[in-house]
Amino acid sequence: MAPKVFTPRQKFPDESEAAAVGPFQAAIKRGTPEFAKLVKNENPDIVFKDEEHTGDDRMMTSRLSARVDDLAARVKREFPGLKLRITEAWDDSTIHAPTSRHLEGRAVDITTSDVDHHKLGRLAGLAVEAGFDWVFFENDLHVHASVKK
Ligand SMILES: [Zn+2]
Repeated sequence: MAPKVFTPRQKFPDESEAAAVGPFQAAIKRGTPEFAKLVKNENPDIVFKDEEHTGDDRMMTSRLSARVDDLAARVKREFPGLKLRITEAWDDSTIHAPTSRHLEGRAVDITTSDVDHHKLGRLAGLAVEAGFDWVFFENDLHVHASVKK
């Protein structure tokens, strides 16, 4: 049974990310055919942190984008007045592990728009309900959620 509210460091399914979403294959580089296959999520119900001021946080695989849209609707229903917030999606910087699913555009780091860490446990539960293939309450700054390729 999936938890409705995660505790810190909890993951679902309770296995490695590689087991749940498949192994890392290769980082997607800007300007390549693989990059051209990513979609740009323009959902107005999502707040994008866009730390890099590039719009890169909107870039993701179509499979991930579908789950993100589903989650955004659930967040609106669960927390009236708030939105889903994405702090990271696809990224080609070196801040992530060299095998991070962010480099493949199939992982997001998420919070609610009020950036209240007390809501992260329930946000992780909503991500499971939204159909993400692996959800991890990574730390008190965000939940990490990823999908199969
Ligand atoms: Zn992450």
